[in-house]
This record gives sequence, structure tokens and C-alpha cells, in this order.
Amino acid sequence: MKALITFSSITALALAPSLFGASPEHFSEAAKMRLADSIELEQPAYKLNVVYFTGNDNEPIADYQRRISELLLYLQQFYAKEMDRNGYGKRAFGLSMLPNGEVDIILIRGKKGHKEYSYGTGHNACLEEVNAYFAENPDKKLSHHTFVIMPTHYDEQYGNANPGGVPFYGLGRNCFALDYPDFDIKYLGQDTPKGRLLTKWYGGFAHELGHGLNLPHNDGPTSMNQEFGTPLMGSGNYTFGLKPTYLTPSTCSILNYSETFAVAGKAPQFYPEQPAEPTVKDLRIIFDGENLNVSLKCEEKFCVNAYIQDPGYQVNQDYDAIAFRMQDGATNDGLNCKTATMPLKELTRLKNVRNGEQAVDLLFGAPDGSRFRTRIIFNWEVLKTGDSIPTGELQFRQGY
Ligand code: ZN
Repeated sequence: MKALITFSSITALALAPSLFGASPEHFSEAAKMRLADSIELEQPAYKLNVVYFTGNDNEPIADYQRRISELLLYLQQFYAKEMDRNGYGKRAFGLSMLPNGEVDIILIRGKKGHKEYSYGTGHNACLEEVNAYFAENPDKKLSHHTFVIMPTHYDEQYGNANPGGVPFYGLGRNCFALDYPDFDIKYLGQDTPKGRLLTKWYGGFAHELGHGLNLPHNDGPTSMNQEFGTPLMGSGNYTFGLKPTYLTPSTCSILNYSETFAVAGKAPQFYPEQPAEPTVKDLRIIFDGENLNVSLKCEEKFCVNAYIQDPGYQVNQDYDAIAFRMQDGATNDGLNCKTATMPLKELTRLKNVRNGEQAVDLLFGAPDGSRFRTRIIFNWEVLKTGDSIPTGELQFRQGY
């Protein structure tokens, strides 16, 4: 069944609680309402591993299975609707479901005290034990992507009103977020202390998961932000649930080649050990007075995104990287022409446009999930209308 089905009311949902397995009877009314306009996803080939991880001296927070399930299912719908809007179909990260309609969340109790798994370096000890679990239970490992959720610490610094202390970031195909008692979809969108706290941690949960699904930071062109809000992979982790938040076309083009978004029956093998770099020819970045026009040729299979940003360029300094999905053109001699137009009027959030140094990054994504990124730094002060930016020899790095 592929048709889009919309429930018009909570009552209708209650009459058909397990149509998608999304809103069983025991879910909260808030979740049923939030999931009432769920769309049916294309069947994923692989699923995200969801792990709830504690130390040997702390406990999962009450009702975590239901609360985290509701939050994950609503987030899955957000990703699917954004993928669909951007032309990639009703696709999201797959989730393993239990017969009762909850997400199959693997509970792992660590061998050490919870402080050994703290923010900063504690993820190493955690991942070691998660990997050992998967080695012993290979049928539980459903993809290369693992989302680890830990309960907040309780000490002089952290607690229910100020959760924290645990890892909260993406690291390759693993990502980390936290749980606390009011981490509950019923507070979503409320301009109250609990509602704002939820946006902070649920927005972060959604954003860090994005990193774990291969996503880099990005901002949107000005007109797109005006229409759709804040990109989740920009500062959307601070707006999700409270203000309009969206996925850029570039973000969706990367998710299109992310393992847990692959559709059953159409999935390639993901993440080869030695993926092939793109062959890039005829790269040109020309300033025509109003736009930077980027064009290149590479293998057709690659999706290519162009980003422009102010310095610095390191991760966490790149939230401002304004993303443009390059369009496919004609293919000749095995190479496909890709183009993007970056209008200056879409770069209003950047400081250095026509005034100082900036970087154009190119990110090449292959259907097997491998990604290559290269950076071209240039100086506006020497760039005149009609000039082409010198691109030099491209150096690729893998990943974000
Ligand atoms: Zn981030």
C-alpha cells in the first residue's frame, strides 16, 4: 500500500491504531495527535540501531520506551515529509518495530559506573561495549548507523531541569543524545520552560541523528529560509518544534544515499572500505557580477552539493555554509555535467560576500554512501566581474 493516507482526527486514528504501527492505543494522546497525519513510508532495507545505554549504577528513566518511541516516530515522519517535499519520496531512517507499536530500543547496561561514559571521551567506552554487544548479537545489528541515548546525570550540575553530562554529538555513523523525565512529545511546541527545554534537547536529538546519518552542517539560501524556516542541520536544533524547521535539498540529497534510507529491493552495498574518488574535470567557478556559477564534470552517480561559507571552516564553525544542490546536466564520455548558481542575494547571512576571504566546498556523495569533500578558498578583493576563481588541484577528504 503506497497511497498517502491522512487521518482526519484522533478518533479515526483510535479506530485504526495499527495501520502503520505508528500510534498504538497505549501511546499518549499528544503522540496520537502528532502522528495523526502520518504518511506511510517506503519500506526501508536497513534500520537504525537504537540503543539506550546506562552505567552499572544508574537506571533508564521511567517510561523511556514509550517516550523515546513517540519522539523517534514523529522525527521519522519529519524526515520523510521533508524528503518527499524535496523530491526523494516518502523515505526516512528505518526503525525496527515491536509488536506493540513501539520502537525496538536495545537496552545495554554498561559494565562501568555512568561517569565513565561522560561527555567528552566517554563515548569511546560506550561504543566499545555497544560493538561488543553487536558482535555477540549480530542479528540485532540492522545497519552501520547507531543512535545511543543515555539518561541525564544527576549531580550538582545536572538534573531534570538541566539535563546533561552524557555524550551529545555525532561521530561518524554513531550519534549520541540524552533522556530526562520531561523528554516527552506532550511538551512539543509549548512556549513554556518544559516546552523550550524539549526543543533544546529534541532539536539536538534530531540534529545529532542527522550527523549520524552522514549529514554535515549547512544553512539555506536566504529565500529558502524565508519560506521554510531554519535548516535542521544549521541552527535548527534550537528551533525544532517551536519554529519552522526544515531539511535543505542538499541535506536530502545526502540522505538519499544514506544506508537507513535505502528502499527494500533497491539497496546497494553501503560503505565500501576503499571507495573510489570522483573524477572531476572542467571545474569552474565564475563570478558574473550577481552570481557565482559553479560547473564541473564528474561521474553521473555522484550527487554534488556546493557550499559557500565565511571562515573558519572547521566542524562547528560551518553552520553558516549555505548549501546549493547541483543540478545534473548532459553526460558525455562517461562524465555528467553538474551546475549550480549561487546568487549573491541568497547569501545575505554571510559576512564576507564581496569583502574578504570565503570558501566554496564541494561535497560528492555516491550511492554506496561514501562522500568526498574538497575546499576552494578565494578572496573577493581580487575577484572582478567575469573572473574565474582559481581552483588549483583538488584535495579530497572522506566523510563530512
Ligand atoms: Zn551539529
